[in-house]
Amino acid sequence: MFLTRFAPSPTGRLHRGHAFSALTAWSAAKAEGGRFLLRIEDIDPTRCRPEFETAILEDLAWLGLDWDTPVRRQSDHLDDYAAVIETLRGRGLLYRCFRTRKEILDAIGDAPHGAMELARPGPHPTDEEARLLAVGQPFAWRLSRGRAREALGEAGWNGMTFVEEGVGQTGVLPVRPRAAGDVVLARKDAGVAYHLAVTHDDALQGVTHVVRGQDLFEATHVQRLIQTLMGWPAPVYSHHRLLTGPDGRRYAKRDRSVTLAELRAGGLGAATLRAELGF
Ligand code: GLU
Repeated sequence: MFLTRFAPSPTGRLHRGHAFSALTAWSAAKAEGGRFLLRIEDIDPTRCRPEFETAILEDLAWLGLDWDTPVRRQSDHLDDYAAVIETLRGRGLLYRCFRTRKEILDAIGDAPHGAMELARPGPHPTDEEARLLAVGQPFAWRLSRGRAREALGEAGWNGMTFVEEGVGQTGVLPVRPRAAGDVVLARKDAGVAYHLAVTHDDALQGVTHVVRGQDLFEATHVQRLIQTLMGWPAPVYSHHRLLTGPDGRRYAKRDRSVTLAELRAGGLGAATLRAELGF
C-alpha cells in the first residue's frame, strides 16, 4: 500500500510552496489509491508554536486535503527518539559535541560548504570531554561517519543506495553520507534532531514514499545512512520542484511570502489556488 506524508514544522504560516508540496504528496497518494498522513514536526522548542499547528490543519483543510488520523505530533514522542539515540550510542556510533555553532564555524574557518560541513572538528579529546561533562556543559550527539563506516564495513558503506523518482536525477542513486558531515542526531536543547525524528517516524508509520521538495534532496543521504544503521526500510523518494514566486525566487517562510491565510483573506478561493498550482 502506497503511504506518504506531509510533514510541516509549525514555525510559521503555510505559504504557496507548502500548498504545492502538500498537494503533490496528497495527489500522489490519491492517484495510487494509497494513504496520506500529516505529521507535525515540532521538535524545535524555540521556533515551533501551537498556534501554527492549528493554522496548518485549518489551511490544509481549506485547501481540500484530507489525511488519516491521529496526526502524529513529534513533541509527544520524545521518549521514542531518546530510545533510538540510546541504541546508536550503545553501539558506539555517536559522540558528544559541546561546541556552539560559532565555535565550529571558527574551527573550520572558511570551508565553503557551510552547514553541511559543520562536523569537521570531530569528537573532543577525552580529558576535555570529561571536564565539560563535570561542569554540566550541555552537549549534542553527533553521528560519527567514521564509526558508521566501520560498523557497516566497506561493502555496506559503499553499497548504500536510494530510489529517486523526482524531478532531478532519478533511478537507483548511490548514497554519499560523506558529504553531510557528522550530523547532529540529538540537539542540546531538544534531545533529538530532524534527521533522527524524521527517519524514525517514516519507519514507524510505514511510509513507503517520501514526496517532498528538492531542498531536502541532500538530506536523503543522511537519512538513508540512519535507516541502514537502524535496519529500517528504505522508502522510495520523490523530490519535487520548488515553487518560485514572480521574482523567480523560491517561496520561504523567512521571505514572508504570501501565506495561505492572507490569500484566503484576500478572497482567493481554494479551487483557484489549486488550479494555479496545477492541481
Ligand atoms: N519537517 C520538514 C520541513 O518542514 C520536512 C520533513 C520531510 O519532509 O522530510 O521542512
